[in-house]
Amino acid sequence: MNRQRLLILGSTGSVGTSTLDVVARHPERFEVVGLTSFRRVDLLFEQCRSFKPRVAVLPTEQRAAELRGLLAGAGLDTEVRVGAQALVELAGAAEVDSVMASIVGAAGLPACLAAARAGKRLLLANKEALVVGGALFMQAVKDGGATLLPIDSEHSAIFQCLPEDRNTWARRIDHIVLTASGGPFRQRRHDSLHGITPEQAVVHPNWVMGRKISVDSATMMNKALEVIEARWLFDLTPENIRVVVHPQSIIHSMVVCRDGSVLAQLGTPDMKVPIAYGLSFPERIESGAPRLDFMAMKDLSFEPPDRERFPGLYLAWDALRAPAGTTAILNAANEEAVSAFLSGTIGFTAIHSVNARTLDRLQPQLGASHGLDDLLDLDARARTEARQVMKALQP
Ligand code: NDP
Ligand code: MG
Repeated sequence: MNRQRLLILGSTGSVGTSTLDVVARHPERFEVVGLTSFRRVDLLFEQCRSFKPRVAVLPTEQRAAELRGLLAGAGLDTEVRVGAQALVELAGAAEVDSVMASIVGAAGLPACLAAARAGKRLLLANKEALVVGGALFMQAVKDGGATLLPIDSEHSAIFQCLPEDRNTWARRIDHIVLTASGGPFRQRRHDSLHGITPEQAVVHPNWVMGRKISVDSATMMNKALEVIEARWLFDLTPENIRVVVHPQSIIHSMVVCRDGSVLAQLGTPDMKVPIAYGLSFPERIESGAPRLDFMAMKDLSFEPPDRERFPGLYLAWDALRAPAGTTAILNAANEEAVSAFLSGTIGFTAIHSVNARTLDRLQPQLGASHGLDDLLDLDARARTEARQVMKALQP
């Protein structure tokens, strides 16, 4: 069997390191050909030492020089390339079979599109790329003949509940139910939400994740992005995507079929399961995740998401019904707002105000064309607008 030649975009992140953890269990199946990071040079070096990729990518010459020095000292011949264009080229390169897209944010979109257009097996964790790219992204997958495999646990769950032949999906699905843990503040008093600190917001009750997605889980903007992600992955209308809060994160999502039958995928909350499925689909391999113990399991409970506590969630359906490009504005505003919250510039509840106001200001100006350059331009404009909104919010 030929080994799958794998590129991991964002290998030093939470999903990236979990991917390497699964890959390390199956050296006969996977060859790591490329690894990339943004800031963490030391960890990227350690990964190069363990997996000996042909190529590593960093965003600046300075960091690349640092990595080259470390590699030379260790006698390793990994080639170090520089910049966002190097990510795009590598994602479409002939020496790569599969791409794990685990960069955080819209920054991952160009490389995802390149992998889609080149017909790769594309393991998509980078939900923001699909939220921004939407129709363009899905068209690239189709035109390139790529195999798009969802890694987000909810979307992997839906995917695992569906047959391989996607032509049958529309006939089977009545609606889907995405589960949400409700994050760390599910039961916190509404009037105390404004005082939440970044340290409190990044501690998730069930999952260990990067800082941005952890804040998104606390506001439930993560679920909003996932609703939009599901619309594209499974070609659903907004009405056919529902969300239920399930605090234990054991059921990862459900498909409600036309005949009333409900299919669910269960497991411990560990990203190694969806990652292993993406890596091995349509087979299954050992993931290294702990198994569910039904005898020790507490109750599984469900509740509706609280609209007052999680207003951001409801922006998803509005944005999907609005003109194309709206979801790109929402994503950009949210990335800026979360980053400002994490650096202490704005408060927790201001994240939603920034998102809603940026949408109000920019949505009426949306044009009709949505190629990659238009979307990147829109993303940049939305970030500028969001920063202005934040300035106006300062006391
Ligand atoms: P992390 O912040 O942990 O990792 C992000 C990775 O991307 C790091 O390798 C980082 O490099 C790199 N990176 C950051 N910014 C840039 C940039 N501008 N250009 C290139 N590379 C960049 O994020 P997660 O692993 O938590 O999440 C990754 C994606 O997967 C997100 O889209 C998230 O929504 C999605 N996801 C994550 C889940 C999880 O459990 N973590 C679950 C489901 C989806 P460096 O380390 O050097 O900063
Ligand atoms: Mg998820």
